[in-house]
Amino acid sequence: MADAVFTLLKNAAVYAPNPLGLKHLLIADSKVLAISDEPFELPRSLIKEAIDVAGRVVMPGFIDSHAHITGGGGEAGFSTQVPTVPISQFTSYGVTTVVGLLGTDDTTRTIGNLVAKTYGLREEGMSAYCWTGGYHFPLTTLIGSAKEDIVYLDPVIGIGEFAISDHRSSQPTFDEVIRLASEAHVAGLMTGKAGIIHFHLGDGDRKLALIERALHETELPARTFNPTHVNRNKPLFEQACQLVHQGCSIDITAFPDGFSDPGWTAAQAIALAIEDNVAIDKVTVSSDGGGCIPNFDTSGTLINMDFGRAATLGETLRSVLKDGIPLEQVLPMFTRNVANLLRLPHKGIIAPGMDADLIIVDENFYFTDVMVLGRWHKRNNKTLVRGIFE
Ligand code: ZN
Repeated sequence: MADAVFTLLKNAAVYAPNPLGLKHLLIADSKVLAISDEPFELPRSLIKEAIDVAGRVVMPGFIDSHAHITGGGGEAGFSTQVPTVPISQFTSYGVTTVVGLLGTDDTTRTIGNLVAKTYGLREEGMSAYCWTGGYHFPLTTLIGSAKEDIVYLDPVIGIGEFAISDHRSSQPTFDEVIRLASEAHVAGLMTGKAGIIHFHLGDGDRKLALIERALHETELPARTFNPTHVNRNKPLFEQACQLVHQGCSIDITAFPDGFSDPGWTAAQAIALAIEDNVAIDKVTVSSDGGGCIPNFDTSGTLINMDFGRAATLGETLRSVLKDGIPLEQVLPMFTRNVANLLRLPHKGIIAPGMDADLIIVDENFYFTDVMVLGRWHKRNNKTLVRGIFE
């Protein structure tokens, strides 16, 4: 007898992220095999599962390019180190691909540990990558340089999060910044990986000055420079939107509720970018999941602290939709735009031959079902796949 290998999703309102209308999806192993207007006619013995989605929206899984998968934090003493983030904290909230990184603590946290956790998430069934380095120059690496880490270590796709305009940065010089960017760029050419430097932006007055200078004074392509947290204060966001006009991709952070002051929430920033005719295919949104989110006063004293969660991505999407922005306009910021920037060719869109990373939503746009690489991690609002210690 033949093995039942096919999953059918019938009557799905597919946003690929472009709206395709009501479709039938055929999935086998980890891939979307075909998309059709007509129901597939297959021998029953080959069908593992046939689900009538009944006209609900099916969209690509989210790609979160900024998550502290080994736990971030430690900015108010060792007891404030955030624990590692288990797989269901991503997949249950629709994140099917994650990029892990180190931040402030690139001393007690190491790239070896980050690479191991990335492999761990892969073993548990999701797609995972990581950045090498952390906030500081000289970079924390595994093999000895960022270039070698990107070239030789399969999960490493670029450098991040490298801090500028922040009291917690290494106060890197212009020469240090462009040297690192060149390593990322060349390693990206050699490997086909992202080959970019993902910058943590602080609240410092210099804002994006180092990146703007690099665009004027070096031959490095604009795509190499990818600033994140650009919505953390309003003048920074304004300058970041200008940077998009020069060819850079910018990343908006979906801060937890109450932690976007004095900047914009991710939903506000998305609306502003659309309103201001920023090239929105160069705008992405990430969670800062597992990272500590501290509030400092002007003297640098910690006022309070929370940590990022992937759940804020879905909250941001729902908030934007509530404001009347069409799904097809905002969805690429969580999916296709990220895949393009990170050079992940099988990710970010629903099409034949692409990875079967799918989210099914209910009428209020909560994520009821999440498929990762062809396997249900969440089904009917129930988390099915958890980490071994969850
Ligand atoms: Zn950061």
